Amino acid sequence: MTKARRMMQEDIKLVDLIIELVDARVPLASRNPDIDQLGRGKSRIVLLNKADLADSTCSRQWKEYFQARGIHVMEINARTGGGMKAIHGLVQKACGEKIARDRKRGIVNRPVRAMVVGIPNVGKSTFINSFAGKACTKTGNRPGVTKGKQWIRLDRSLELLDTPGILWPKFEDPRTGMLLAFIGSINDEIINMEELACDLLRLLGELYPASVPERYGIPWEEDPARMLGEIARSRGCLAKGEDLDLERAAGILTDDFRSGRLGRITLEQPLLEQAPPEQEEKR
Ligand code: GDP
Repeated sequence: MTKARRMMQEDIKLVDLIIELVDARVPLASRNPDIDQLGRGKSRIVLLNKADLADSTCSRQWKEYFQARGIHVMEINARTGGGMKAIHGLVQKACGEKIARDRKRGIVNRPVRAMVVGIPNVGKSTFINSFAGKACTKTGNRPGVTKGKQWIRLDRSLELLDTPGILWPKFEDPRTGMLLAFIGSINDEIINMEELACDLLRLLGELYPASVPERYGIPWEEDPARMLGEIARSRGCLAKGEDLDLERAAGILTDDFRSGRLGRITLEQPLLEQAPPEQEEKR
């Protein structure tokens, strides 16, 4: 077992609730199913982050998808704080059983302890900063709690571990790896950006065929390499001589996608991806 995984397991022991951040544009690829095993017995919330960049119709369907599997879910924008106020209500719902159990034992007002987890770049740090805001106080070490752990007290009913748990992305499935590369969760330096851009063009052609022609003012082109050439031409990406600088064009395209300039786009669409809940459980 890796050190990171062991550390996360230790942290999970300290909390009642796991807040899992996923990227709303690829809500399945940006999860690591190991969290189901690591988080067994804990209350769970899934937050579809970067909802501002995702297709709102798809996000609505994704919420239904998670809800059908008994998972409490919400769309948020951690960068602006959009949707964050409602999280407190969701926490109460997700931890309802625990709160009732405490109450039966005469424990009242014990705050729910939560931690944030997710793969790199889904917005964990942004979320913690924005959710905790300025009003928070760090509670520091406390008796009975592992040394060095910092808790952020959000209010009387909720405390958050101040460092997120980093889940490793699942690279085994090449399609998942590709989707994670699109959203920037895999280091660009180890990726062939031109190939990545061509893959992105292929997928956008299937799902959002108008997005690229609209952005660059070019006609749709079936062959992704030629389409990338058209993007290079439209953006004046020239290499030495008369050659087109396709690598620069690839960078522009991925950047435009990642920052929402191609429009609100969801690359995993619930109706195309999902198996019925019964089948999922058997996996
Ligand atoms: P972490 O690796 O999971 O901690 O991710 P970060 O918090 O460092 O965020 C990665 C990038 O995503 C940063 O550039 C953030 O500004 C951006 N980001 C985080 N949340 C959102 C969001 O809801 N919407 C948008 N558009 N960008 C976000």
